[in-house]
Amino acid sequence: MKLSADILKDFPSLHAMDMRAYLDSAASSLTPKPALEAMDDYYSNFRANVHRGMYATSAKATERYEAVREVAAKFLNASADEIVFTSGTTDALNLLASSLGRMFGPGDEVVLTEMEHHADLVPWQEAAKRHGFALKFIPMRPDFTLDMDAARALITPKTKAVSVVHASNALGTVNPVKGLAVLAHAVGAVIILDAAQSAAHMKLDVRELDCDFLAFSAHKTYGPTGVGALYGKKALLEKLEPSRYGGDMIREVKLGSSTWNEPPWKFEAGTPNIAGVIGFGAALGYLMDIGMENVEAHDRELTAYALKKLSAVPGVRLIGPIAANFHDRENSRAKRIGVISFVVEGAHPHDLATLLDREGVAVRGGHHCAMPLMSKLGIAGTTRASFGIYNEEKDVDALVDALLKAKAVLKI
Ligand code: PMP
Repeated sequence: MKLSADILKDFPSLHAMDMRAYLDSAASSLTPKPALEAMDDYYSNFRANVHRGMYATSAKATERYEAVREVAAKFLNASADEIVFTSGTTDALNLLASSLGRMFGPGDEVVLTEMEHHADLVPWQEAAKRHGFALKFIPMRPDFTLDMDAARALITPKTKAVSVVHASNALGTVNPVKGLAVLAHAVGAVIILDAAQSAAHMKLDVRELDCDFLAFSAHKTYGPTGVGALYGKKALLEKLEPSRYGGDMIREVKLGSSTWNEPPWKFEAGTPNIAGVIGFGAALGYLMDIGMENVEAHDRELTAYALKKLSAVPGVRLIGPIAANFHDRENSRAKRIGVISFVVEGAHPHDLATLLDREGVAVRGGHHCAMPLMSKLGIAGTTRASFGIYNEEKDVDALVDALLKAKAVLKI
């Protein structure tokens, strides 16, 4: 399935960058005109702070900012008061590790996976050190999927939280998070999803996934940098302590003590990224206009094409689920998104990425903020090509062509 060619016209930076193929949307996706225009509109026409001003411009800024909560809620099938604006996935996961972490102590356990991004791993490491609880890791099987038998053994009454990457940025694997949610809830633990990658590739429904918290970043869903959203079930957000303090998040402040605003505002201390949130809303609206089922279908076809083409290049070894048998709703099979990691025998991923850049193909090379995963795989890193809604088969052809040229340069 091809998305409309008009999509390409919506992305000015795609043309400004003047490259053969932009294949690094997992690092950051490009931003379409409606999101750029929404941010420009704020700065040009109603540039005021939110929640404070008694004048019309500030009221308009507040209205537009708050309206994005509804948009993000629709995107996730949540309700607006369950959406906290953050500066991104890292910020959201830090908030959770800090605020949930202080509720846990010695004898408690938090279960992660071996494929966590550092953004989910490091905040929990620090919280575990501070509060004395233990971290456990669900191992990965040789086919790059999670070992669910091990998960069943690891998630016990000691488990207080299960925090997992929904779709791995290093492998493309989509984890069986519905099954993990069942295991977590059976022992009274909460489940947190790092949806930084999945949000741009698949339809997310927090009710269907039955997750307690879910974090994602605007800049990977075609919005601006420095903004994101944390979904939390309302009852849990009510119980959770804030992790940052200051203006806007309070109800009443005395010299000796303070009380907090309602969620979600109690988690949004200080002046937020107003333009960013407004741009984020426009980007999510843009994606929903296209239809996430169309985004998924496009990703699936392009991924299948890329896996076939890349497997045929001598010396290329795919690091991730081989078959493009996508996430199904039943959680039963190995699944992946259009984030394709590979190694080429005899080439360092950095050298390869540099040589591909010379051919006008932008990919990422390295450990992808998943160093423990790379150690487990016994590799320094991978080269990663990742797709956005503006990518086409010809971009994959450009990648393969550039790979063949790089191999010739490296004489491998
Ligand atoms: N988790 C995953 C799976 C990611 O891919 C990323 C970004 N590479 C993050 C978390 C962190 O996102 P951000 O840098 O937007 O906070």
